[in-house]
Amino acid sequence: MNKISATKLMTILLFVSFVSLSAQERNEEPVTFNKISEHLYEITGGRGARSGAYIGDNGVLIIDSKMTKQSVDQILNELKKITDKPIRYLVNTHSDGDHVNGNPFFPTSVTIIAHENCRKEFFHETRDGDPSRWNDPEMKQFIPSLTFTENLNIYLGSKKIELWYFGIGHTTGDIVVYFPEELTAFIGDQIFLNRPQLIHSYKGGNSFRHVETLTKMLETLDAQQFCSGHSSMTDHEGIRNHIEKIKGYQKKIKELIHCEKTLEEILKEFKDEEDRIVTTIYNELQEKSEIENK
Ligand SMILES: [Zn+2]
Repeated sequence: MNKISATKLMTILLFVSFVSLSAQERNEEPVTFNKISEHLYEITGGRGARSGAYIGDNGVLIIDSKMTKQSVDQILNELKKITDKPIRYLVNTHSDGDHVNGNPFFPTSVTIIAHENCRKEFFHETRDGDPSRWNDPEMKQFIPSLTFTENLNIYLGSKKIELWYFGIGHTTGDIVVYFPEELTAFIGDQIFLNRPQLIHSYKGGNSFRHVETLTKMLETLDAQQFCSGHSSMTDHEGIRNHIEKIKGYQKKIKELIHCEKTLEEILKEFKDEEDRIVTTIYNELQEKSEIENK
C-alpha cells in the first residue's frame, strides 16, 4: 500500500469509527461478554448492535462487529481475558452499519462470512440514496469474502457452528448463527422486542416474507434461546408472539385499506413509533393488489 492510499484508508476508517467522540462522551455501556455457556458469549455494550463470540477448540468465531474501532478494541481486550485462541471467523448477520462497520478493525487474518445477498447489500445505496462507502476499493478487504446461499457448517475443532438462511425478511440477506450444543441461535435484527420491527424495503426486505422466514426458522431449528441485535435474549414463545404481532399489523392495515382509508388516516390508528412498519406494510399491500389486478 503506498502512502497516499494509506492516508485515504485512514480517513475512511476514521469516518467509519466516529473517533471524534470517546465512548464516555457518548455515554456508552462498556463492551461486556455475557456468558451463555463455557464456549458461547453474548456481547453487549459499545457502539452498535449486540454481538456474540464462540470459543472453539482451535479458534474463535465472532458474530457481528459493532461500529467503531473503540468497540472492536474492547472486544479484543475482553476476549484476551477469556482465551488466547485466535479469531478465525467473523460472521455478519446482515449488512446494516451497526453490525458491520467494525469489520475493518479486526485482524486482517480473520475470514469474514455472510450470506451472498448480504454481501451484495454492502454495495447498496443507503436509505437516503447515498452511494455505499463499501464501494471504495480500499474497503473491499473488509467485505465478506466467504458467502453461502442456504446453509454452511463451520467446525472449530470438534465444535460445530451452523449458519442458516431461511429467506427474505428484515433484508434479503439475514442469517441465523446456530450453536447446536447450546441450543442457542443468534438471529441479528430478525426480531425487535422493545420497538417496532424494522423492515428495510430499500434493501428488498418484506414483512410478509419476514413472517414466513421466522416460521421456517422455528420449524427447522431446535433452538431454545434466541439472541438478537437490539433486544434481550428470548425463547420460542417470544418469536411466536413477534410473528403474531406482525401478522396483526398486516391484518389491521389490510382491513383499513379495504375501508378505503388513506395511508395518512391509517397511520393515525397506530402509535407514532409504528409509522415506519405501518408505511412499509401499507406499501407492500398496495404493491400486492397492483400485481393481483394486472
Ligand atoms: Zn441492528
